[in-house]
Amino acid sequence: MLQTLNKYFGYDSFLPLQEEIIGDVLAGEDVLVLMPTGGGKSLMFQLPSLLVDGLTVVVSPLIALMKDQVDSLVANGMLAEFINSSLKYNEIDDAKNRLKKGEIKILYVAPERLMLSDFLKFLKSLKISLFAIDEAHCISEWGHDFRPEYSQLKSLKENFPAVPIIALTATATEKVQGDIVAQLDISKAKRYKASFLRNNLQIKIESKEKVYQQLLNFLKGHKKDSGIIYCQSRRQVDKLSYDLRQDGYMALPYHAGLTPEERSKNQERFIKDDADIIVATIAFGMGIDKPNVRYVIHFDLPKNIEGYYQEIGRAGRDGLRSDCILFFNYGDKAKHEHFIRQKEDSQEREIAHFKLKEMVDYCLGSICRHKALLQYFGEELDVPNCEACDICLEPKETFDGTVAAQKVLSTVYRVNGRFGINHIIDILMGAKNKRILERGHDKLSTYGIGTEYSRSGWQAVVRELIGLGYLDLEGDQYPVLKLMLKSKPVLAGKEQVILTKPKIEISSSKTKKSDKIAAAGNVDNELFEILRVLRKELADKDGLPPYVIFHDATLKEMASRYPRTSEALQKISGVGEAKLLKYGEVFLKKINEYCSVKGVGALKSK
Ligand code: ADP
Ligand code: ZN
Repeated sequence: MLQTLNKYFGYDSFLPLQEEIIGDVLAGEDVLVLMPTGGGKSLMFQLPSLLVDGLTVVVSPLIALMKDQVDSLVANGMLAEFINSSLKYNEIDDAKNRLKKGEIKILYVAPERLMLSDFLKFLKSLKISLFAIDEAHCISEWGHDFRPEYSQLKSLKENFPAVPIIALTATATEKVQGDIVAQLDISKAKRYKASFLRNNLQIKIESKEKVYQQLLNFLKGHKKDSGIIYCQSRRQVDKLSYDLRQDGYMALPYHAGLTPEERSKNQERFIKDDADIIVATIAFGMGIDKPNVRYVIHFDLPKNIEGYYQEIGRAGRDGLRSDCILFFNYGDKAKHEHFIRQKEDSQEREIAHFKLKEMVDYCLGSICRHKALLQYFGEELDVPNCEACDICLEPKETFDGTVAAQKVLSTVYRVNGRFGINHIIDILMGAKNKRILERGHDKLSTYGIGTEYSRSGWQAVVRELIGLGYLDLEGDQYPVLKLMLKSKPVLAGKEQVILTKPKIEISSSKTKKSDKIAAAGNVDNELFEILRVLRKELADKDGLPPYVIFHDATLKEMASRYPRTSEALQKISGVGEAKLLKYGEVFLKKINEYCSVKGVGALKSK
């Protein structure tokens, strides 16, 4: 199993529960998997498809996304295909022929196609080894996304009594679980429930005041990152996406009022990294596999906690740190109440009011955001501090941050405003990486004087200084910190700076999954950008979303380890055999060029 994992996916270990579940699948058991987004569900049927004889059939609700899923597998060297209504008659015929010849190992279909009697008959003529039902909650009317087509799957077991079924969902409620098991007729299925904690998501709730300005302040520190901004109304979506474009952000709208063509065009541009931001109503997002969504912002208050959890869950699938910000005010609550009052059914009204109240309590609450969310789903979180929410990281106290500000500002001054946030923090924290040493930045008087905060603490300080107008981030490709006029009196000791107090003042040595890469060596952002551009060029040439080539996490690891030979490149997580063969050379060329120009990443003699 490990060998296959490494060969096709380029990973060298399993995520929690993956190995046990795959073991059960291979043993022919029915399995129900409850795992949050980003938990690594797809691998649980993709890997077995490589290890068993016969065909794995994957049922997935969204036709629009099948192509991307299949492209990702093909890029990994797997024999994958999809059949749906977007294909022409002769293309379907062709796929069927290849299925007959055993040239396809994993097939994606929509439920309504699968259950056509002709198609069932065709499948019965093949050797089927596994059915995987993705987004299995769609079968339940109790879920948040019931799809009548899924109900047709009721007779799947009857048609294929000997073929095991793996059902997967990121919805955890008891009612939905019961429904899935009953309807798919897999009462003996083993159930696996992973923790729903997503502590690579940094959750923050801000009071909504000058919200557009608040949003811009956040976006300034996230230029070129992918993000989703949820709004309550279509009108708000149109206005906000327009405003953001006026302010130079590549933001596109998405809501049910657009034509299907516009919607899929905008979604596609987002997935392919041609647009950085999608401003959307809740109509957007289900089944979006894009792994590098770096933030999800709720511009308006969500209606209930389930929806909110699903929406923020679309950030950080790749396990890297991502931000989730909700702007709260009472005006939004009143707007929701207004809509609820217009509902005809009194029971519906009552439930909606109740759920809205839970949402508001969550926003105003003072317990850890992650703990509160997990409690909602019946799970306890046993750590005193999650280090990933505003409650745990930043109590609303302020403090005299003049000294901290002076440290940051004078470092920016000393390097002449030519470096980005992370480099400045590296100097303050006394990092010993190549970029620092080679530039002699370890000789600066501010080198290593910032021991009082952790990296995320300094990031918060820098972001706040940007927000307060003491600093600016300039430049699109490699944004650098520049001093603003306002910082002069601070540097001269003539003005006090009041900052929000970070709670954790001592640098923490604990490494979380999201910090794994930073800990492995600092990411060279300049190289990361170069590799990102290369990835985009290759992706466009093949008409693929960039993440299909390599994930951000993989590029970041390259930009911190400087692999210069194909052996070194293959050791990077996410580089499997097929990708090494197809893309290895071009990436190595870029990395080697970069290393020679910059004189970094010494080429070790084996
Ligand atoms: P889900 O469907 O549960 O949301 P995915 O299947 O999309 O999750 O996987 C989430 C992310 O984790 C993807 O970027 C995937 O490539 C990555 N991943 C899956 N398994 C592993 C593993 N064993 N090691 C490292 N990364 C993994
Ligand atoms: Zn917390």
